[in-house]
Amino acid sequence: MKKSSKLYPIVKFKCPQCHKGDLYPTSTFSFQKPFEMHEHCPNCGANFFPEPGFYYGAMFISYILSGFFCIFYLVIAILALKWNPAVGIGSLLVVMGIFFVWLFRFARAIWLSINLKYDPSKGLKS
Ligand SMILES: [Zn+2]
Repeated sequence: MKKSSKLYPIVKFKCPQCHKGDLYPTSTFSFQKPFEMHEHCPNCGANFFPEPGFYYGAMFISYILSGFFCIFYLVIAILALKWNPAVGIGSLLVVMGIFFVWLFRFARAIWLSINLKYDPSKGLKS
């Protein structure tokens, strides 16, 4: 994927301004400090918390994505694979439990990318 792509910082959890600094101090599936985020970009210094309550918008993104995913998953499991609905819902809960942190971080990365513009000159530092 091209580094200048708008999707790059979302998929890689990088700063949307420089596409280099990490958004989070730990990796997603290490499950250590899952909800901790850098306050500023370690590379360009972009502010990741521009105002109080900034990430309420990310909550709606997360809600919409998980809602659509749950519907899609249950339709596939119950209608296409003919699973028992209890098994479908049970396995969905396990899948959502595993990917909860990833989804939380993904929604924040999308929200930050909507609100911060890419500036290629900021990425030259390192
Ligand atoms: Zn940055």
